[in-house]
Amino acid sequence: MLHIHQFPCLSDNYGYLLHNAESGETVCIDTPDADAYLREAESKGWTITQIWNTHWHPDHAGGNEAIKAATGCHIVAPAAEAPKIAAIDRTVAGRDTVRVGAHEAQIIDVGGHTHGHIAYHLPDAEIAFVGDALFALGCGRMFEGTADQFWNSLLRLKSLPPQTTIYCAHEYTAANARFALHADPDNGALRDYAEEVEALRAQGKPTVPTTLERELASNPFLRADDAGMQGRWGGGDAVATFAALRAAKDAF
Ligand code: ZN
Ligand code: FE
Repeated sequence: MLHIHQFPCLSDNYGYLLHNAESGETVCIDTPDADAYLREAESKGWTITQIWNTHWHPDHAGGNEAIKAATGCHIVAPAAEAPKIAAIDRTVAGRDTVRVGAHEAQIIDVGGHTHGHIAYHLPDAEIAFVGDALFALGCGRMFEGTADQFWNSLLRLKSLPPQTTIYCAHEYTAANARFALHADPDNGALRDYAEEVEALRAQGKPTVPTTLERELASNPFLRADDAGMQGRWGGGDAVATFAALRAAKDAF
């Protein structure tokens, strides 16, 4: 049985502790804030044994050294970003696997926000930790990658089982919804989702996690292969439409 403890970190990150009650292991998904992670683990009575990093940005790997110093935990990080991430024990790349007790996580290459960004998919638990690759109603800014690379990363996420619960790293959904409605104004599923997001945020509640099924229907970046989106945003193929959407969001 896996337990996920979610808590806000920094200004708009989410921290996640993934706990396996059978094995007694606890994984930090990224390390935006070492003190917050150590405090939250203690409050749950959990001992941190691993860190799984998604990418090198300081709001994802900045707490590695302090958490390792406090716990002696084992750190897994993307091979392509190893020079930029502290205290790594094992580097991984797409199609590698890591474990928390008997549960396996498959590494998915989701480069685009950063070149070496990875996601962790646990098929038996039907969950994925996607960092800044995919957000509820959005995707990460394309800091390092190309549109072709990023779109192919999103295709890998699109091909996961639709019932997969998606844990993304930021609470950006309300702003993402405003752009999504601009990008895809006739999408009824999106309009319902955006209303729910507004209501949740008005009550100070998180909009994360989301599900892949919901994002497939509403997230404009996952819909760059939709004929209607291609007609509206130009480009004869999904890569060009994705590039147009990403550029429009940056300027929105
Ligand atoms: Zn980032
Ligand atoms: Fe981030």
